[in-house]
Amino acid sequence: MRFADLILPVPIPRTFTYEIPFELEGRLMPGHRVIVEFGKSKILTAIVSDIHNSIPKYETKTILDILDEKPIITPLQLKFFFWVADYYMSNIGDVLNAAIPSGLKLSSESKIQLHQNFDFESNTFTFTERETLILNQLKTKEDLSYNEIQKLLGIKAIHKIIKSLINKEAVQIFESLKDKYKPKFEKRIRLTSHYMDVETNLEELFDQLEKTPKQLQVVLSYLQKVPIFKDSDLNNEGVPRKEILNLKDISTSSLNTLIKKKVFEQFEVQVDRVRKYIKKTKDFQLSPAQEIAKEQILNVFSQNKTCLLHGVTGSGKTEIYINLIQEAIQNESQTLLILPEIALTAQIVNRLKDIFGEKLGVYHSKYNDHERVEIWRKVLEEEYSVIIGVRSAIFLPFTNLNLIIVDECHDSSYKQFDPPPRYNGADSAIVLAKLHHSKILLGSATPSVEQYYNVQIGNYGLATLQERYSDGKLPEMTFINMKDCRNKKKVTGEYSNELIGALKLNLQNNQQSLLFQNKRGYSPYLACDECNYIPMCNSCDVNLVYYKHSNSLKCNYCGYMENIPHTCPNCGSNRIKLVGYGTEKIEEDLKLMLPEARIERLDQDSTKNKYNHEKIIQSFENGNIDILIGTQMISKGLDFDNVSLVGVLDADRILYNPDFRANERAFQLFTQLRGRAGRKSVHGQFYIQCFNENHHVFDLLKSDDYMSMYYNELKERQKFDYPPFYRLVKVMVKDRDKNISRSASIFLYNELRNLLGSKRAIGYFEPLISRVRNMYIHEITIKLERNGLNMSSIKNKIKSTEGNLYKQREFSRVRISYDVDPI
Ligand code: ADP
Ligand code: ZN
Ligand code: ZN
Repeated sequence: MRFADLILPVPIPRTFTYEIPFELEGRLMPGHRVIVEFGKSKILTAIVSDIHNSIPKYETKTILDILDEKPIITPLQLKFFFWVADYYMSNIGDVLNAAIPSGLKLSSESKIQLHQNFDFESNTFTFTERETLILNQLKTKEDLSYNEIQKLLGIKAIHKIIKSLINKEAVQIFESLKDKYKPKFEKRIRLTSHYMDVETNLEELFDQLEKTPKQLQVVLSYLQKVPIFKDSDLNNEGVPRKEILNLKDISTSSLNTLIKKKVFEQFEVQVDRVRKYIKKTKDFQLSPAQEIAKEQILNVFSQNKTCLLHGVTGSGKTEIYINLIQEAIQNESQTLLILPEIALTAQIVNRLKDIFGEKLGVYHSKYNDHERVEIWRKVLEEEYSVIIGVRSAIFLPFTNLNLIIVDECHDSSYKQFDPPPRYNGADSAIVLAKLHHSKILLGSATPSVEQYYNVQIGNYGLATLQERYSDGKLPEMTFINMKDCRNKKKVTGEYSNELIGALKLNLQNNQQSLLFQNKRGYSPYLACDECNYIPMCNSCDVNLVYYKHSNSLKCNYCGYMENIPHTCPNCGSNRIKLVGYGTEKIEEDLKLMLPEARIERLDQDSTKNKYNHEKIIQSFENGNIDILIGTQMISKGLDFDNVSLVGVLDADRILYNPDFRANERAFQLFTQLRGRAGRKSVHGQFYIQCFNENHHVFDLLKSDDYMSMYYNELKERQKFDYPPFYRLVKVMVKDRDKNISRSASIFLYNELRNLLGSKRAIGYFEPLISRVRNMYIHEITIKLERNGLNMSSIKNKIKSTEGNLYKQREFSRVRISYDVDPI
């Protein structure tokens, strides 16, 4: 076994074969992390995907170093990563990048330390003076980052160092990379037993230390932290050394002297990087309707099928999840619960932490590198038995997964668009379950048409909950016709008097309200009153969004920012006005209209910090906020007892979307929003401000008729060859030159039409936003029948047309990417 196939974190659609050095033979296994040279100038961390004897056709490099004792990626994970890459037509390296925390990868920030066995004299290499200098620096353990060393020495010298070490005995120099994967330790101090056990000894100590007040101070400070010195448990835990040293008037030397004198002893404990939850007992009983639904679920599970739990909002789906997870834990297996939105994890964690305590792990992108690495390790070592996370949690190293729950399974946030892989976490979870022979439950009040179709044709089993828990009623709906309101002058700006009145009344009754607006920022855009000029992004085909708090214009696609112009850049007029309104503007307006209300905002901008979303949700839950304004973040799954009013501003904006899923989406969003009110004893109200009250979706909503929506949509989809009857693949062609982008897409379209037939290749289009970051985009849509096609071979054929395109010199810089099952 002399060769290893490696997954490298680069956007190239294949693995790479490297030679296994003699010292590593027999030690290396699939799932190990290794260090390799890539190209002429890079050192990368790679994952071993296979080990074999077949000599590759090209010249191979040798693996430089191994990073872990045990593999950190399981064989099932490798299978899953390759499935994601294949199905979503993306590079295995991109999947790796999405899957593993960057803390497990070598980055330019990684610190390099020289292994302690490194020894100049016995080395076969001769180093230059400069190299020796740097090596000495490394030897004294001064932290240098990979980047810094590369700058100082150049890549060649680093290779030389690594190779010289490898030649000796495969010693590892990437100590610090491994460190990230190791548990974290903390230095603590405690009184030695001599002073603990006998009180008089401690009194003697005080006398002794009278002449050294600094040392006395240390002991006194310690005893303040551990007041009951007789309680040996408290003393055994000690106090973090850092904590003592951070106190006023404490010197390191006096502490060290006391340790030398055996007054204190120093020890190390393993500490958690991530928060640990504490278990409380909490009992609840499923209602009769919930018991029936649970029976249905177990019945579907026993047939080894995916189960869809279709339950109205507030029917207690989450309680059923909890019940199932509890049973799974008793069987000592792992459960994964995925959610579409970080904001939602906060609340469910609150409900679950009391029940599952330190067995519960949480995984999402707001955690930093170290924390994510630690969670990875704890999943691998089965320290956690329940993991709650967003879509990327499907990539964790489960070894004993027996139940997957996908909450709000219809939600489009499960789909990742940028960066690739463009995977759907909810759909992929089904494949993950198959690989693990795990049960899987999808839950939603508004399943996607595709998901429900799978029930209809018998692929999935169904469980239902048709009533809210404990006789709760769905909120009453009130449509407010903004045209009428304007005519009758019953508005203030964008707000109908009726809605403001209802908010006021709710406030007087000490009840809470949610207000939904799809747009964040202050005002969607700025426009000149004279010439209609609208400031646009230079690199994308979108207008810049106005942000009041920073008084700037920002592109929501590429992040570009500029100051607001005082005069129109086009005509020089100073009559520049704000048009439209986003969440930030609503917050400000409402604060003026309802000065007595406590108002907060929950959107992407207000939750940049790690725990902000938790804080806002907690504060709302505690009743410290009266009105919470937000984007789609507030529409999903949140469970508040005291919310009796949900309002939607600008509802028409949700209805009109140039997308075949527009109606389905709107129905889902309105149903979910309505579902946030009146969940407990309070009766709920749902207000919709709109211009077109007669829209078809509103009729369906009024009768709360999911099935009609489903059948209507199904008819349309069949007529126009859309999912679930057809599978879609979007081919995206990008270039800096608009003409090249267009002609490349025409070329590719012709290739695809010849290959698949003209019914299956549809194109080419300029998408709604046809330029992002200065790349011009054209698209081709491929429609493939749901049945009777070998998808994997068709996808390979589709990819092979790229080769023909790149043979044309003018297209050599065109970028092609794919979106499988686009949303
Ligand atoms: P869903 O997830 O279907 O929207 P939830 O599980 O959040 O519904 O339930 C709605 C509310 O009713 C929650 O506050 C929940 O605590 C409460 N609830 C549901 N089922 C029960 C039960 N069996 N016992 C006690 N409370 C329940
Ligand atoms: Zn102008
Ligand atoms: Zn931009």
